[in-house]
Amino acid sequence: MRTVAVLGGSAVGSVTALLLARTGWQVTLVDDEFDLFSTPSPQLRARPGAPHTVQAHGFMARTLHELTTRLPDVRQALLDAGAPLITFASMVPPHWVDGGRPGDEQLDCLRVRRLTLDRVLGEAVAGQSGIRRVDSRATGLLLDESGPVPTATGLGLEDGSSVTAGLVIDAGGRRSPISRWLADAGIVQPQRVDPCEVIYYTRHHRVVGDAPRLNAGFAQIHQFPSFISLLFLGDNDTGMLAMSTHGKDPLLKRLRHDAAFSAVMAAMPGFEEWAVALDPIGSVFCLGALDNRMRFLVRDGRPVVRGLHQVGDALCMTNPTRGRGLSMGLAAAGALCDLLGDESLDPDDLALAYDAWQQRVLAIYYRETAASDVTLDRQLRAGLAGQAIPRNAPGIELPEGHPVTSEDLDRAADADPDLLRATFRATMLLDDERVIASERVAARTRAVLDALPPSPGRPPPPTDGLHDRSVLEAVLAPYA
Ligand SMILES: Cc1cc2nc3c(=O)[nH]c(=O)nc-3n(C[C@H](O)[C@H](O)[C@H](O)COP(=O)(O)OP(=O)(O)OC[C@H]3O[C@@H](n4cnc5c(N)ncnc54)[C@H](O)[C@@H]3O)c2cc1C
Repeated sequence: MRTVAVLGGSAVGSVTALLLARTGWQVTLVDDEFDLFSTPSPQLRARPGAPHTVQAHGFMARTLHELTTRLPDVRQALLDAGAPLITFASMVPPHWVDGGRPGDEQLDCLRVRRLTLDRVLGEAVAGQSGIRRVDSRATGLLLDESGPVPTATGLGLEDGSSVTAGLVIDAGGRRSPISRWLADAGIVQPQRVDPCEVIYYTRHHRVVGDAPRLNAGFAQIHQFPSFISLLFLGDNDTGMLAMSTHGKDPLLKRLRHDAAFSAVMAAMPGFEEWAVALDPIGSVFCLGALDNRMRFLVRDGRPVVRGLHQVGDALCMTNPTRGRGLSMGLAAAGALCDLLGDESLDPDDLALAYDAWQQRVLAIYYRETAASDVTLDRQLRAGLAGQAIPRNAPGIELPEGHPVTSEDLDRAADADPDLLRATFRATMLLDDERVIASERVAARTRAVLDALPPSPGRPPPPTDGLHDRSVLEAVLAPYA
């Protein structure tokens, strides 16, 4: 019997455990907060091990795609729990739907709060044979250091006992202790860090009456020099409004007060219809600032440790400005479980194959997201200093010397339903093969752009309402 110990039973750890148990693994899933999220009626409160789970979440199509293809019963359970789909057709204007195309259903997204997602996943785990849940804090990584490369053999637990297993998977999130435990054993894990000082304020709401149309397909987004606001809809007529600000902005720290949050919400131009449709549930949750980080367990073509793999935020953590975290986490869990199903791979081959997938697929999604986050940080910093706001980062990473740019793709996608789908697939993390960077897509982009009138260029930035810092100061003045 193949045995695995999974550290962390939140969304990505639960999915990993389910995938492995269903392919014959004996799984021990370790988390010390099952009682906070895997209960029939979880409370809307920040839990110490994963405070971000109360923050606004919108999920790229890849999240639903992973559930549809790998865990269809979980997808159904989410629908049954009141989490509807946002179809591709509802996200774009009718002329872009253009009669529909085979595969459009892959572009659908899920509308769900983390609270509901984690509960439904918890129920699936509880009902799954082959998974043993251990409600405990893991306090160390067991290592066999007798060979040339140390091998992970299990997890130590807070009561002094341990879980031994043939494989250890780290799904312990962005603050996973595994890197520290490896360092304590003299194993330095390579990593890439892209700093970002953005802070998030979220308040949950009930949506009353008919929901207005979302201005950005799966979300309602408004960008101002000092903050960006994102509304994601959740299950059971809920909506989560987030405001992202710069960590060094003293004025916007006032958003932590419920009344200040509501005042800014009510003053946002273009948000009027939504503001009257949202009834607050509970108070504002604040979180930040979080660096983007990608970790590796292979250095110079060799694993730094055997029998240990990472998934989810433990492997790759990005700021949520592009709503990609869970999609990347589930994609990694799926890729790892596929490789574990290939019994011809020895542990080193497996580590190298997973690292190759990480470099070929995940690293591109990571770099695109990190570029957006770092740019948002600079934009908010410029807004705070009253300087010109830098342009957005390219949405899609293209190779050096590619014949078209990410902006060209966006503009052509507005005029061509097939290019629209190609860019959608890339931004929704469904394009692991990078069709978007192919010569074929570049040629079509050129042809579409050649038939369009010249671009009018960027319109001047608005200066009215909350775009003017003094107006924002006046709105927030009562909450000093
Ligand atoms: C403000 C914010 C907004 C976000 N918005 C989005 C969004 O819109 N869309 C999106 O896709 N993603 C979003 N994300 C990212 C998303 O939340 C993460 O990618 C996702 O939660 C990662 O899941 P995970 O299972 O890897 O880790 P986590 O959810 O962090 O879970 C880690 C688990 O490990 C457990 N654990 C850790 N250490 C130990 C230990 N020593 N012993 C026992 N248990 C341990 C913790 O209790 C926890 O349950 C957002 C993140 C933030 C911060």
